[in-house]
Amino acid sequence: MSNLYDVTIIGAGPVGLFTAFYSGLRSLKTKLIDAEPAVGGKIRHFYPEKIIRDIGGIPEIEGQQLVKNLHEQAQAFHPTIICGEQITKLTKQADGTFLIKAENGNYHYSKTVIIAAGSGTYEVNPLEVSGSETYTTSLFYDIKDVASFQDKTIVVSGGGNAAIDWAQALEPIAKEVHLVYRGENFKGHEERVKEMHDSTIHVHINHEITALQGNSTNLKSCIIHCNRNGSTTKIDTDAIVVNHGVKVNLGSMLDWGFDTSEYGILVNHEMETSVPGIYACGDICAYPRKMRIIAAGLHEGPIAINSAKNFLDPEADDVAMVSTHHESFSEV
Ligand SMILES: Cc1cc2nc3c(=O)[nH]c(=O)nc-3n(C[C@H](O)[C@H](O)[C@H](O)COP(=O)(O)OP(=O)(O)OC[C@H]3O[C@@H](n4cnc5c(N)ncnc54)[C@H](O)[C@@H]3O)c2cc1C
Repeated sequence: MSNLYDVTIIGAGPVGLFTAFYSGLRSLKTKLIDAEPAVGGKIRHFYPEKIIRDIGGIPEIEGQQLVKNLHEQAQAFHPTIICGEQITKLTKQADGTFLIKAENGNYHYSKTVIIAAGSGTYEVNPLEVSGSETYTTSLFYDIKDVASFQDKTIVVSGGGNAAIDWAQALEPIAKEVHLVYRGENFKGHEERVKEMHDSTIHVHINHEITALQGNSTNLKSCIIHCNRNGSTTKIDTDAIVVNHGVKVNLGSMLDWGFDTSEYGILVNHEMETSVPGIYACGDICAYPRKMRIIAAGLHEGPIAINSAKNFLDPEADDVAMVSTHHESFSEV
């Protein structure tokens, strides 16, 4: 059957992308599927413009540049890449192959499956304030283009790392930045919190946004309410950036037959799940001392592929030839 793949990777975040590259290196017919409209996983979704500094050999790289590089690298062996399809069901068939069903009714067929689904699909927690449905063009749940906030007055709502990061990223270019947090003790890194307090960011602890005001669909101001003394303050603003966390949704994935724990899909040192032929890597997999960082997943993906290769062909080499000696990259 021509639409039967050797490997189907569910999730095209950084780990799924690199796993697809390595799968090509092992001459496996590969398909990569993601629920989001584009590849890149959490990086694309949450921090495309942030600088990543903890990948060996790359002192610093902007998130979206890393995604671009990984995407380009993944395409080296021409895998099939499908975006915008959330996988909802995975069934082992009588012949041992897998039937993979997407929410839109599409079916995919594969001899092995690698789950690189991160934390599942994600949905940001909305700003639950009356009017938020009216001023949608002034409400942001992530920032893809910092420059578009040039000379604007911005209110950032939230108290975690992401809220602090965005307030700090906007401070140099915005006219004014306000950070509104309902709590008292910020959950961000200590050093970043100190930097924020030393900056020009107007910090409003123990406050919550309670109303949005404007003309028609143009936001003009918001009202913040102090949960300590009940006072209210009006802030003139052009935009509100909301960082109230995300709901992650593993959907039906936990019912796909493999063993899981509260931390994700349980794997052994070969990235095997409890179902032969299904492997997991990246943020979704769980084992003692698992690190949920990109570098860890870039190691786990190739292990999963090597295990899949040996599952398909027990006589195959345990690992691919290193790229410097690999026939696909040899100079002519
Ligand atoms: C704000 C923030 C900053 C971070 N900074 C760093 C950093 O500086 N350095 C670092 O190393 N790490 C950082 N991380 C962690 C890093 O982003 C993750 O470790 C990494 O993204 C994991 O990659 P992944 O491919 O396993 O999962 P993800 O990036 O989560 O990608 C998983 C993909 O799977 C898809 N998916 C899920 N379920 C399905 C389904 N049912 N069907 C189809 N597709 C599905 C999702 O849509 C998603 O695209 C940060 C994370 C956050 C949130």
